[in-house]
Amino acid sequence: MIIAMDYDDTFSKDPDGWAHVARAMAGRGHKIIGCTMRYPDETDGMSTLYGEVCEQVHFSSRVAKRDYLASKGVVPDVWIDDRPDFIVSSARDLRQEQEEFERMEKSQSEASREYTRGKLTI
Ligand SMILES: [Mg+2]
Repeated sequence: MIIAMDYDDTFSKDPDGWAHVARAMAGRGHKIIGCTMRYPDETDGMSTLYGEVCEQVHFSSRVAKRDYLASKGVVPDVWIDDRPDFIVSSARDLRQEQEEFERMEKSQSEASREYTRGKLTI
């Protein structure tokens, strides 16, 4: 299996623990790769253990991880990630969805207020 392991809030939460898991699975013939949404120049503070236990580390630069890795010809069998939504959606897409939702909620609440005001004046 190819196992893609996230860094932030996954590996970073327990580097020794995940390194142990990664080495155990690598020892069984599986390929462990790192995949983070960070930009390649955002390595400050990253544990060096991550690079040691992952055969490759991919920086998707906020692009959805599955699409990013597919563009590199890498198709993981298993994902270890605290944010599965970032596997299929880019950070930008999710932000736009959130803004759209908030805009819709605001306009519905304004419409509701108008309706209520209308009822009160009748
Ligand atoms: Mg994460």
